[in-house]
Amino acid sequence: MIPMSGLMSLLMPPDAKLGFAIKGLDGRYRLANRVMEELLCQDGEHLAGKSEQEILPPPACRLLEQCDQRIVAGEPSAAVEMELTVAGQLSHCLWLRLPILGPKRELQAIASLLQEAASPQQGFVAAQEELASLQEANRQLQQTVAELEQVASTDKLTGVWNRRHMEESLHQEMERQRRYRHPLSLLILDIDFFKQINDQHGHAVGDCVLRRLAEVLQGQLRSVDSLCRWGGEEFIVLCPSSGRSTAAQLAERLRRKVAETNFPSVGRVTTSIGVAECQLGESWEEWFARTDMALYQAKSGGRNAVQVAPETRRPDGADDDPSSSLVHLVWHPAYESGNDLIDRGHQQLFADANELLSAMLAERPMEQVNVIVDRLFTDILQHFRDEEAAIEAAGFPAATQHASLHRNLVGQAGKLVEEYRNGRQGVGDVFQFLAYDVVTKHMLGADRLFFDHLAAQPVPFGPVDE
Ligand code: GH3
Ligand code: MG
Ligand code: MG
Repeated sequence: MIPMSGLMSLLMPPDAKLGFAIKGLDGRYRLANRVMEELLCQDGEHLAGKSEQEILPPPACRLLEQCDQRIVAGEPSAAVEMELTVAGQLSHCLWLRLPILGPKRELQAIASLLQEAASPQQGFVAAQEELASLQEANRQLQQTVAELEQVASTDKLTGVWNRRHMEESLHQEMERQRRYRHPLSLLILDIDFFKQINDQHGHAVGDCVLRRLAEVLQGQLRSVDSLCRWGGEEFIVLCPSSGRSTAAQLAERLRRKVAETNFPSVGRVTTSIGVAECQLGESWEEWFARTDMALYQAKSGGRNAVQVAPETRRPDGADDDPSSSLVHLVWHPAYESGNDLIDRGHQQLFADANELLSAMLAERPMEQVNVIVDRLFTDILQHFRDEEAAIEAAGFPAATQHASLHRNLVGQAGKLVEEYRNGRQGVGDVFQFLAYDVVTKHMLGADRLFFDHLAAQPVPFGPVDE
C-alpha cells in the first residue's frame, strides 16, 4: 500500500476549489484532484498518464512550457494567466507551477495549481492567498515523493532493499571508497537447497522462510550496512567502512545466526556466503564476480560456509602486504634495533596485537576485546614516547620528522578506535590498522631509518637490565 496520507488530504480537501496535479519530468501527469480533472478533462476522463499536448490547445501548451523552463532553471514558482474552455465556455484561469524537490533538492516533479476566476484580478488575489498554503503543500509533497521512493526501493516480500535500490547505492559507495579510501566489502548470501524447501513444504512456506531470513539478517547488521534481496533466495549485504576481515566476521556471524534459527514448519535452514572487499580500480562487475566465485566455492565445499575471495594482483605491486591476510605477528631477531627499550616496546606491541587477533577469532565478548584494543592503543602511545626520547637522545637527525609520523599514526588510530567505540567501525579493521599499519609497517619501514643510527652509537642507549 502506498503511504499517501499527506498527499490525499492535500489533493482532496472537502471544500477544494483549486485544481491540483503533479506532472512527472517526462511531461505526463501522475496525479490530479477532482477539480483539476473537471477543469481540464472531458466527462469521465482522467488526467493521470496524459500530457498537456494531448488535452490543451498549442498556445496554452507554449505558455505552460515557458513556466516549466523557469521551474527547471530553479525558480520557486511560475504563474501564467490564460483562457481555457471549461465545460464548453471560455474561462479565465490562473495556472501556478511549483517545483517538487527530492531529498537532495533535485527537481523530481512539477506541481500545478489551477484556479478558474471570474476576472483576472480576482484570480490573481485568490492565488496570492493560496501561496502560503502551497509552501506547506510543497513540503508535504516532498515527503510523499520520499515515501514513494522508499516504496519503489523496497522488496515487497521481505521489506529489505530491492535490487534497483542496491544498484544505485553501491555505485555511490564505490565512489566514496575511491574518494576517501574507505574500505568497502560485499557479501552474497544464498540459501542452501532452497528448492527442496519449496518442494517439500510449498512455495508459501518458502516465502515465509525468505521473510524470516531477512529479519534475522537485518537484526545482525550495523545501521551503515545495507541488506538487499538481490533476487530469488539470494541476498547481498553492502558493508561500507568494513575491510575483508570485518566483513568475513560479519558473514560468519550471519551464517551462524541463521543456522541457529528455528524456521516455522521447516526447522533448520543454512546459507552459504561469499565475501570480497572492493579493490581500488576494480569495477562493480569484477568485484561482484569475485564475490560470486567465493560463494560458489562455499557451495562446492559443502555449503553452510563462508568463503572470502582472495585479492587479485594490485596495481601498486603491494601483493605481499601483510594486511592481506589475518595472521599472528611473529617476532624475528632481524626486527631488533639494538636498543633494549625500543625492542621491548616493539615486542610488547606484537604481543598485544596477537592477543587482539586471538580474541577476535575466538569471538570473545566485546568488553574483553575493548580492553585489549585500549591496551594496544595505550602501549602504542607509550612506545612512541619512549622511542622519540631515545632517538632524540641518540642525536638521530630526522627525530622531529619521525615524531611527526608518530603523531600522524596516533591521530588516525585514535579516530579509528573512537569510531570502533561508537560502533561505526568493525574490530577487524581496527586490528588491521593497529597491528599492520602502526606496528608492523611502521617498524619495518620508518623505524629502520634510525636502527642503523642507534647501532652506530658508541654506548647503547637505554638500560640493559636482562
Ligand atoms: P543451492 O544450495 O545450490 O543454492 O540450491 P538451491 O536449491 O537453493 O538453488 P536453486 O538456485 O536451484 O533453487 C533456488 C530456488 O529458489 C528455485 C526457486 O523456485 C526458488 N525461489 C526463487 N524465488 C523464490 C520466491 O520468491 N519464493 C519462493 N518460495 N521460492 C523462490
Ligand atoms: Mg540461488
Ligand atoms: Mg540456493
